[in-house]
Amino acid sequence: MSKIKSSESVKVVVRCRPLNRKEESNGPAGCIVQMDLRLGQVILRNPRAPASEPKKTFTFDAVYDANSKQGDLYDESVRPLIDSVLAGFNGTIFAYGQTGTGKTYTMQGAWMDPEKRGVIPNAFDHIFTHISRSQSDKQYLVRASYLEIYLEEVLDLLDPNHGNARPLELRESPDSGVYVRDLTSCVCKSIKEIEEVMNVGNQARAVAATDMNEHSSRSHALFLITVECSQPGPDGRKHIRVGRLNLVDLAGSERQAKTGVQGERLKEAAKINLSLSALGNVISALADGRSGHVPYRDSKLTRLLQDSLGGNAKTVMVATLGPAPQHYDETLTTLRYANRAKNIQNQPRVNEDPKDALLREFQMEIARLRAQLNHRKWRTKQKKEQVDGEGWERDGDEETEGEEDEEEGVEKDAVEYVKLEEQRLEREKQDIREDQFMLAEEKQRLLGEKEKMMGVLRKEQEATEQLTAKYKAMESKLLVGGKNIIDHTNEQQKMLEGKRHEIAEQTSSEREIQQQMLVRDEETVELRETFTSLQQEVEAKTKKLKKLYAKLQCIKAEIQDVNDEHVRSRQELEQTQNELTRELKFKYLIIENFIPPEEKNKIMNRLTFDPEEDQWKFQPLVPAESKSSSQMKKRPASAVGYKRPISQYARVAIAMGAHSRYRAENIMFLELDMTPPNSASLDRSAESEPNQSHSLDNSPTKDRGVRKSRSWCQTPKSITSSSSNVSLAACHTATPMTAQ
Ligand code: ADP
Ligand code: MG
Repeated sequence: MSKIKSSESVKVVVRCRPLNRKEESNGPAGCIVQMDLRLGQVILRNPRAPASEPKKTFTFDAVYDANSKQGDLYDESVRPLIDSVLAGFNGTIFAYGQTGTGKTYTMQGAWMDPEKRGVIPNAFDHIFTHISRSQSDKQYLVRASYLEIYLEEVLDLLDPNHGNARPLELRESPDSGVYVRDLTSCVCKSIKEIEEVMNVGNQARAVAATDMNEHSSRSHALFLITVECSQPGPDGRKHIRVGRLNLVDLAGSERQAKTGVQGERLKEAAKINLSLSALGNVISALADGRSGHVPYRDSKLTRLLQDSLGGNAKTVMVATLGPAPQHYDETLTTLRYANRAKNIQNQPRVNEDPKDALLREFQMEIARLRAQLNHRKWRTKQKKEQVDGEGWERDGDEETEGEEDEEEGVEKDAVEYVKLEEQRLEREKQDIREDQFMLAEEKQRLLGEKEKMMGVLRKEQEATEQLTAKYKAMESKLLVGGKNIIDHTNEQQKMLEGKRHEIAEQTSSEREIQQQMLVRDEETVELRETFTSLQQEVEAKTKKLKKLYAKLQCIKAEIQDVNDEHVRSRQELEQTQNELTRELKFKYLIIENFIPPEEKNKIMNRLTFDPEEDQWKFQPLVPAESKSSSQMKKRPASAVGYKRPISQYARVAIAMGAHSRYRAENIMFLELDMTPPNSASLDRSAESEPNQSHSLDNSPTKDRGVRKSRSWCQTPKSITSSSSNVSLAACHTATPMTAQ
């Protein structure tokens, strides 16, 4: 069941980083980005254009200039989204922009420094603090995964074998949308644990960065957090809400021409640009609203973000800018991209009681383990009662009321029973040892029996301990509201936090009102105008004409810009196409000249394209009709008693002992020569040497002192009579047969 909520647009915020040391040397005039924080506007100056040319203005949900703090961005633009995730919505935050503009800084930041912690570590604090402060009837399960998309392949960053791991597949389910199959998912119980997960993933990325030149900026990284919350509903049943949070650090959007890359790097850049342009196409198609087809399937990135763009999610896009004039083109592209994304409408809804909720499985498993454990403990208790002979009576003050207390009592009984039993057995053993009238044998037998009983008791205790440990481990993974995590914040701090949120909310609503007022002012100013004289009217209309003319010029310039942009991206695509065509020709040349045509045809006939995975695949060798039986054809079994299938003719020939060819395969049974070696026998063997060539089949071997051998299918008689030379001869004849 899910509650439908009205659609809402993607929230787009823009952040500009400060000038870096290199850029600062150009002086303050080097800054091309201006920001109006009150109105949420970015004003961009073209450094190549004359000063008289009007600047470009873009309006967003919020803007953050070089002086902005990580906390400002989080409180105002991210916090409401994380609150929604905790309420069971899907949420996505993605950072988009040119390399070096602060995407990673915004998403990760310097997480050790509280002032510089980025969105991801701040979200960790937020989630776990929320859990610690929630009511005790709520149970939570928090899971984290970390993946990257590199060269259009999805790789698990938490896989210990990351470097050599196979790319993962994308799958789709009606419940959770598009997901990654076999992706590692770590259950996290605290901020420390989830930070550990992030570090492990970051290190996997960092290692690749040293190996593969600038890898980190060439892959898209996705940190996924799933928060499942179970709470009793009005119907008395426990309902589960699942919030999924995607934290995405995209690869740099810079142009290939600018990076000056070639060969492998160019292919890499082409893939990045392809996935980013696929993202751009998806955004355009959604923002346009008219095109029925949204090309989500064009790249892995867009498939994974399918729900975040135009689907069941609340989304925040952080577009990052650099203020330096040399990056004017990229800055403008980023702003246009972000401007388009504002128009995307999503339909977020609460994910309630989905079938694949892991929390439900955990709860069921915990209940099963608890039942098993209780059963064991009650059994032990009953045994104790039997041992005691008289009914089980506990002291009055130990009487328990609640189920939990009763369980505790049972556990105590069980431990006590084991202790008592051990003592009893020990006592009995002592008695047996001291009994002087008992036979030694009888003593031994009885002691053995007691020892066995003790062994059984210990084994049972161990099994109970293991079960308890498993039960406790499972239970500890579930976080109970206000219980598992101790909240150290005092009331004053909590109030301060609350006020900060209020201020953030107020600022953003103020900005919204300001933006609306600006639009309305422009519309109504015309209506309010009354003219006293014709001259005044002419003046006003001329002013308006000038304004409109300026606007027209702006739009013309915009059209020119967009055209230039198109030409540039077309050139880049052509360059990529040429590069790929060259590679295709190279591969074609190898195939045509070095692979026999029949082999090539065989391979070609078996290949089919799997659009789901966007890959060519080999069809199985087994024909389609036998596929229905879902079993490969059985290999013919060897003839019983023989090591390989053998013809009837050969069998008859073996039985007749005719031609040596049929006598054996190239397998010999070598028998150890047990006779002690002596010079006489050696001499004799030397003497018999000349005869060997004449009597290949029947030469006497017993007294020759050479190692005897026998082939596997010879009759006992021939075994003794055959010599190693004979077998070898047979072997030589048999070898080509085996090979056939
Ligand atoms: P990207 O991930 O976009 O390639 P980074 O996040 O690695 O870029 O940022 C590049 C550099 O700029 C880093 O050294 C980072 O510390 C610095 N930086 C980025 N944004 C800011 C900011 N808002 N304030 C201070 N430094 C920043
Ligand atoms: Mg980065």
